Order: sequence, then structure tokens, then C-alpha cells
Amino acid sequence: MTDWKSRISPSVNAIAPSGIRKFFDIAAEMEDVISLGVGEPDFVTPWSIRESCVYGLEQGYTAYTANRGLLTLRQEIAALQKRLYDTTYDPAREILVTVGVSEALDLAMRAILAPGDEILIPEPCYVSYQACATLAGGIPVSVPTRLENEFRITPAELEAHLTTKTKALLIGYPNNPTGAVMGRKELSAIAEFAEKYDLIVISDEIYGDLTYGDEAHVCFSSLPKMRERTILLNGFSKAYAMTGWRIGYACGNPVIISAMTKIHQYTMLCAPVTAQIAAIEALRHGEKYMKKMVAEYDRRRLFIYDGFSNLGLACFEPKGAFYIFPDISSTGFTCEEFAEKLLTSEHVALVPGNAFGKCGENHVRCSYATSIDKIAEALARIENFLKNHKK
Ligand code: PLP
Repeated sequence: MTDWKSRISPSVNAIAPSGIRKFFDIAAEMEDVISLGVGEPDFVTPWSIRESCVYGLEQGYTAYTANRGLLTLRQEIAALQKRLYDTTYDPAREILVTVGVSEALDLAMRAILAPGDEILIPEPCYVSYQACATLAGGIPVSVPTRLENEFRITPAELEAHLTTKTKALLIGYPNNPTGAVMGRKELSAIAEFAEKYDLIVISDEIYGDLTYGDEAHVCFSSLPKMRERTILLNGFSKAYAMTGWRIGYACGNPVIISAMTKIHQYTMLCAPVTAQIAAIEALRHGEKYMKKMVAEYDRRRLFIYDGFSNLGLACFEPKGAFYIFPDISSTGFTCEEFAEKLLTSEHVALVPGNAFGKCGENHVRCSYATSIDKIAEALARIENFLKNHKK
């Protein structure tokens, strides 16, 4: 019999399927499940954004766009960067519209990593980072972060993993799965580190708009000397509740953006025109709707943080994204046992922390992109679970 597995590319064989999906598949077969597992907004895309797409279709916008995306959209993205972070990008040469941040991540890795190049990736992190680096032929180097430091990364931790092959660093703050953010001072230290070792920095800021509390989000490329060496990634999925539209973008120096565009041109050709039209509307008139959703996430954030604190599970107050990452080691269960037993006995779905890297092992990721009522019910069920399951 043919060994088909041996016919698959070694880099594909080297990556594991996402650890998130397994639990969704089990949950999908059960009734009365409350899911804190999914990393996507529970809101529908605001009407004016949907309407703009419908209107675009009525007008006959059904064709390919420029590879880099509609110029109007790139101009709106440039205006946004200027307005929010006082960073200037040339819409003609320094912005590429992609099929979600997912595509932008893949393009960034493929554009810069040669076989054997290493890329530093602080963990716990979004499940695609390691896989994209491996598929691009690079070597992802995990750099663990710690609960005691609220999962922020430090230059010393990065330096400990630096080799002569280190070419790049990938940071993602606000962070999925921990909800951690990094302030200006901490990011400036990372910027100095990048400058010192001449690293390219991929900065995934998809949750940038979802930052709570007094400190505003700091865009990495807006830090001194970082514009040139940063590939800034952002998109519409989370802030504008547009996960299904598949639209994101990359900003960076023209050499890197042209390299990414070359790959994009031969693989995607362009992002969907319908989603691009909707994204223009989101940037022109969607901010007020986005801010409303963010205010609601903020309310849920404080509620769930209170809830877990009262249950005695150690966690820090998340300041960004829509996740909380409690430490469940006091229960005596591994994160996988905890998630599985909680699902089967109390019908609450969440994601074991090790799906996001080894150092997430003692944690579970809970998304609060769901209603307060459901969060309250999930917390009550978790309380019940903790009472009945002593190891
Ligand atoms: N980056 C992070 C940190 C994410 O959490 C996600 C989705 O969960 C993505 C990127 C992918 O986003 P998109 O829908 O734009 O492809």
C-alpha cells in the first residue's frame, strides 16, 4: 500500500493540526454547551458596512482589484495610521491589502525567511505563528513569557534565545490568548533590542483597537526607527466583527511590501472586492460602531475577571483582545484534563492553554466575546465543577 504520508511535504508533516478545533468538534455534538472557546466576536458586522457591500454589488463591483487592493482602501488605511499613530505610509508602495491577517502573516514569513533562518516567537501566542514560520522554511524559536510578568516579553528573555541565525521577531500585542498588552516603555525596550541585533519585526496588531483602561494601544512601527524594520499587520476581523469577510493588511517598507505582493499576486491575486468595499466603509464611518462593541467587551472583561478571581483561579486583569487566561494548576488537572472534564460534565467549552505553546500548559483560554448572561452561567457551571472535581 502506498505510504501517502511520506508523499506529503516534510514541512507540512512537521506541523500539528490546531489544538483549538478538537474541542469545538466535541462541543458541536453536545447540547446546551456554553462556549468560551471561540476567538471571534458574537456581534454581526454593523449594518452600514454590510449595506455598503450590497450597494457595491448592485453597482457591479464584481471584478478583480489591483493586486495591492483598491487604492481608496489603501488611502483610508494610510489615513488611519496617520490619525491614530502619526505614522506615514505611502498607499502606492507601502500598503498591501490581504485576505485577513492570516494571509499577511504567511506572506510576511515567506517574504523574509530563507531556509534555516530563525524567528523569535514569544509564547503563548496565536496558533498560526509557529506553523507559518515552519511552512515558510524558517525555524520558529519559542520564547516563553510568564504569568508573573503578565505575559509581556522582555529583551533579556529574547536575548537568551538569540543565535547567529536569528533574523526576525514576531510580536502580537494585545495578545491572543493571554489578553496581555505592552506599554510604550516596554515596547521601546524591544525596539532597542531589534535595532541592536538588526531584526525585522512582524507586529500583529489585529487586537490593537481592543485595548482597555487608561493606556492607549501603542503601534510598534510608530516607535523611533521602527517604521522601516517593522511589518505591521492589522485587519477588520476582530474590531469590526468581520471575521467571515477575510480582509486584512500589511504596512511596511516598500522592499518588503513588494516582496509580499509578489507572493500574493501569484497565490491570491487580490482580496475579495466585496470585502474591500466593506472595509472602506468600516474605516470611513464604522468607528462609532466599533467603539460600542469595544465598550461592551470591556464590561464583559471586568465581569469575567471578577468571576475568575472569586473562584480562586489565579489570573491577571487582561487589558486587551477578548480573552482571559486563568491558571488552573491549583485544581490538580492538566489544562487538557480540565477542558475535557469541564466540557463533558458541565458543558462549558474553553481551550487548553497548551494549544498556544508549552508555557500555556497550566492555563485555559476563555473568550469573553459572548453575552454577559452566558458568561455568568459559564462561571456558575465552572464553580460547580470546581466543587465536584477535587483531584
Ligand atoms: N492574529 C491573531 C492574533 C488572531 O487571534 C487571529 C484570529 O484569531 C488572526 C491573526 C487571524 O485573523 P484574520 O481573521 O484577519 O485572518
